Amino acid sequence: GDEDLDTVPTPLPLVSTFHRERRWADTSSYAAKKKLQSWFQLSNGDWELGKILSTSGTESVISPPDGKVLKVKTESLVPANPDILDGVDDLMQLSYLNEPSVLYNLQYRYNRDMIYTKAGPVLVAINPFKEVPLYGNNYIEAYKNKSMESPHVYAITDTAIREMIRDEVNQSIIISGESGAGKTETAKIAMQYLAALGGGSGIEYEILKTNPILEAFGNAKTLRNDNSSRFGKLIEIHFSETGKISGAKIQTFLLEKEALDIVHVSKEDQESVFAMLAAVLWLGNVSFSVVDNENHVEPLADEGLTTVAKLIGCNVGELKLALSTRKMRVGNDTIVQKLSLSQAVDTRDALAKSIYSCLFDWLVEQVNKSLAVGKRRTGRSISILDIYGFESFERNSFEQFCINYANERLQQHFNRHLFKLEQEEYIQDGIDWTKVDFDDNQDCLNLFEKKPLGLLSLLDEESTFPNGTDLTFANKLKQHLNSNSCFRGERGKAFSVSHYAGEVTYDTTGFLEKNRDLLHLDSIQLLSSCSCHLPQIFASNMLTQSEKPVVGPLYKAGGADSQKLSVATKFKGQLFQLMQRLENTTPHFIRCIKPNNSQSPGSYEQGLVLQQLRCCGVLEVVRISRSGFPTRMSHQKFARRYGFLLLESVAYSQDPLSISVAILHQFDILPEMYQVGYTKLFFRTGQIGVLEDTRNHT
Ligand code: ATP
Ligand code: MG
Repeated sequence: GDEDLDTVPTPLPLVSTFHRERRWADTSSYAAKKKLQSWFQLSNGDWELGKILSTSGTESVISPPDGKVLKVKTESLVPANPDILDGVDDLMQLSYLNEPSVLYNLQYRYNRDMIYTKAGPVLVAINPFKEVPLYGNNYIEAYKNKSMESPHVYAITDTAIREMIRDEVNQSIIISGESGAGKTETAKIAMQYLAALGGGSGIEYEILKTNPILEAFGNAKTLRNDNSSRFGKLIEIHFSETGKISGAKIQTFLLEKEALDIVHVSKEDQESVFAMLAAVLWLGNVSFSVVDNENHVEPLADEGLTTVAKLIGCNVGELKLALSTRKMRVGNDTIVQKLSLSQAVDTRDALAKSIYSCLFDWLVEQVNKSLAVGKRRTGRSISILDIYGFESFERNSFEQFCINYANERLQQHFNRHLFKLEQEEYIQDGIDWTKVDFDDNQDCLNLFEKKPLGLLSLLDEESTFPNGTDLTFANKLKQHLNSNSCFRGERGKAFSVSHYAGEVTYDTTGFLEKNRDLLHLDSIQLLSSCSCHLPQIFASNMLTQSEKPVVGPLYKAGGADSQKLSVATKFKGQLFQLMQRLENTTPHFIRCIKPNNSQSPGSYEQGLVLQQLRCCGVLEVVRISRSGFPTRMSHQKFARRYGFLLLESVAYSQDPLSISVAILHQFDILPEMYQVGYTKLFFRTGQIGVLEDTRNHT
């Protein structure tokens, strides 16, 4: 009867089904009129499902499952999907694609340990924070022989392998998400699958064993994750012509400044690694005392200082000088400035951090040597990228600025790829794809990258001015960028950027200091002249004269003209290299989601999940995927399925295409809502609904 009809997802009025900035308002009055099942929001922000009992003007009466009856604003109602769509394994299948419906669908699956869901081409993975029975040889076999098809890291990895072989194109698996969301675990799961399918040479074990080594050095326990990676990691796995793993290469980048036998590190080198680690720890013990009436300080000549000097192989005097003075060039002269306590502490910490990060780089180099890709490169590889996602906190600083810039680049890569896929299918079927409309984030990227008036250039410029401060930097941004639609100056030292994932306000406090990177020439000179085993790495890492890393001549003491790269510029250089490598691959995307902040199983906080879905662009992805002509059906299938609905019997003798067109006309489907291809009909979202409806009730 009438009741049943109301729960069927009837298509929305044509105008609101395809609209760039779809608002819920126009769908809510529709839902109310039709008395559909709807979502309404509780005072804590969570969404609950209810049935609309009546509507009068701006208010509706709704009844949630607990039997209560509530009055809510009609405009706040969001239509829910019919029960048959509960827990669909691809969000694209939802009739109503709104935030509560997506949240509910993911939660429905999560509660049943189905932690993986597709969002169009993207795999969404929700961290279970417990062991789930989804892995191991039986599962690997099932995905390998295609007897299992539900969304999974194995499935996406399997696709990557097949496409690598079929198209002879390198592949990449791009894993992003916030801290603790499960990126590193997901990368390991993908590597397991690669090792199982491409194993045989034995090298796969070595590759799997690099994880704990890199984690031991690169990970730390943080508030958000007990085993947090403080570096981005790209592991490139190479395959032979027969599809066996032939080697691997790891590239790490952006190490935040917070088992060796297996990878063939010599005993001697291992000793220097430990010596350097010890030096880092001892540096923390170096303390300072005031030596004059201007509050300048010098390090105490105690056990800490002498031990550090011994470990890194320099004399105590040199170390003392490096920790208490700073050489500055003024015109042609070099002047020596004495340091205050806070400056000296910063210098000490910067020294410790850079020893640590150089050590890490060196370690990665050793790992790579041991995994070296053989001489017979086939050019077939799968790269796995484990990188932190878009971040938006209450207070956002330089780190978020860099991370979000990188994510803006990755998002562009993603959009282009998606667009390309769509375009290829449309062209193949001869339809007009210029009508497909994709959001582009080029404006935001320009805001960051434009020279000389972009965020990065202005930051670098201000960082080189001796008198530059965070405030003068912020003012300069406001002066030059206010006309940019992605930029907004805020009060004081703050500014906002309109990112693809939302607006973020950055506080410039500390930007200049962090960008300059406190390690001054004195420390670099010290490190590059010391007699420990690692000065070459130190030198080549710290000093480069162009955006490309310099492999050749090392920094020499006295070469004070060498320009030290700013952190932002180095970051941009690394990012461009990364993007270049990714450009040449077919990408596969995994977005990891953290369901709660307490790292506990079974708890699903809607607000937290929603915020991440917005940040990683999951809703946007589905929207983009649906913004073209997402529903496709062959002429034959269409004619078979709906042909009997035709009122005029004339159509029956004709070919499928003519029948299809007659159906479209009879149902008044607007011309801009579909395209007729050589083999298929392409529809905008929601267009098939009216046909299905009639079909089911005839
Ligand atoms: P960070 O950015 O801080 O490095 P991350 O995204 O790499 O974080 P992981 O270290 O991969 O996060 O995951 C955090 C923890 O979540 C893991 O130590 C593990 O306990 C749990 N976890 C993640 N994925 C899974 C999974 N698929 N099954 C079981 N537990 C998981
Ligand atoms: Mg990690």
